[in-house]
Amino acid sequence: MTVDHPGSEGAGSPLPARRDTRLDPYIGTYAERTHGMTASAVRALFAVANRPEVVSLAGGMPNIADLPLESLGGAIARLVAEHGTRAMQYGAGQGEPVLRAQICEVMAEEAISAHPDDVVVSVGSQQGLALLTQVFCDPGDVILCEAPSYVGALGVFRTYQTQVVHVAMDADGLDPIALREAIASCRAAGKKIKFIYTIPNFHNPAGISQPLERRREILAIAKSEGILIVEDNPYGLLGFDSEPTPAIRSLDDGAVVYLGSFSKTFAPGFRIGWILAPHAIKEKLVLAQESATLCPPVFSQYTISAYLQNFDWRGQIKKSRELYRERRDAMLAGLQAHMPPGTSWTRPGGGFFVWLTIPAPLDAEAMLPRAVTARVAYVPGNAFYADGLGTRHMRLSYCLPTPDQIIEGTRRLAEVMGNELSI
Ligand code: PMP
Repeated sequence: MTVDHPGSEGAGSPLPARRDTRLDPYIGTYAERTHGMTASAVRALFAVANRPEVVSLAGGMPNIADLPLESLGGAIARLVAEHGTRAMQYGAGQGEPVLRAQICEVMAEEAISAHPDDVVVSVGSQQGLALLTQVFCDPGDVILCEAPSYVGALGVFRTYQTQVVHVAMDADGLDPIALREAIASCRAAGKKIKFIYTIPNFHNPAGISQPLERRREILAIAKSEGILIVEDNPYGLLGFDSEPTPAIRSLDDGAVVYLGSFSKTFAPGFRIGWILAPHAIKEKLVLAQESATLCPPVFSQYTISAYLQNFDWRGQIKKSRELYRERRDAMLAGLQAHMPPGTSWTRPGGGFFVWLTIPAPLDAEAMLPRAVTARVAYVPGNAFYADGLGTRHMRLSYCLPTPDQIIEGTRRLAEVMGNELSI
């Protein structure tokens, strides 16, 4: 595997790629599970997509330019001066107790009532996914995922050699009828279903959200079938038009494991997320966390704790929501103005992503190099399916480019699509 590309959400690297074309002498030595670890062809294109002349609608990087960086710098300096010897020391495997209590306050915004003892701090919610999969899944176990689903979760599930079974969504998210059918057919085939993985708010990549009633339905099915729900919710506080919908975890504290993150509401560079789990599961997760990292990064935890305590984090999230709403509006306006007939798209009420369905015979994966030549980038839909489907779709993100860039990006994209359609 040549690792010469930026991260899965498109972070740029200032270093030139070092290409080593020699045959890998360890090829027969790697574990079975590495065979599933493939770098998608698309990722190499992201390096090109980061060039300034390209409008990248591909990445999922939050806008952090508006954080109060100067006063944060002051707070970090004080942290070092006053608590440096603790903040730079090893800490608890479960995470710092003060931060865990603050995390419970953050979750209360989505009607979750939780005890700090049931929270495990993780290295982003990405590590939460890895720890959960490690704790629950043997090779061949089934995880039920929305179709499409988060590319980073699919990567983790593949690494642990699980079988992803996709379940259709409708305009209200995960479809309960399809969910029942998937459960029945997996069981009929003698498969073990370990959990339902769902992103109920401002879905990545689909841009849809489950209304409260749908959450209740999915929970009822999961409970009656004895299947755990993993609720992945990094975008829940980034809704544009209304109060947050209560989390699935707020409806039940025994059947749901909840994943949260500071990556989108504060900054991803600290790499701090969390898992809220029923007690017995939490115990296993702490053991898994200790063996993975000894403890999650203590300095990051202290910094986030200071931020939550001393800054108006709710006001900051409100500002972010306004910024992202303006960008969402720009994207919807650009798509409306430019897209060829036969194209459709979701209208997200929050988060970062629009899911575009393109007319036949267009193929989003095949078209990407030509789009990049035309100075616009996106993620082709098949990245979000475990089974290679999805090439009639693409994910467009509006979180990082400016409104003008977004509109220009949709114009360029529509032009590429128009050219392909007229060939
Ligand atoms: N889940 C979803 C749905 C995401 O979109 C992301 C980030 N793109 C993550 C988990 C991981 O986020 P982090 O590890 O930064 O918390």
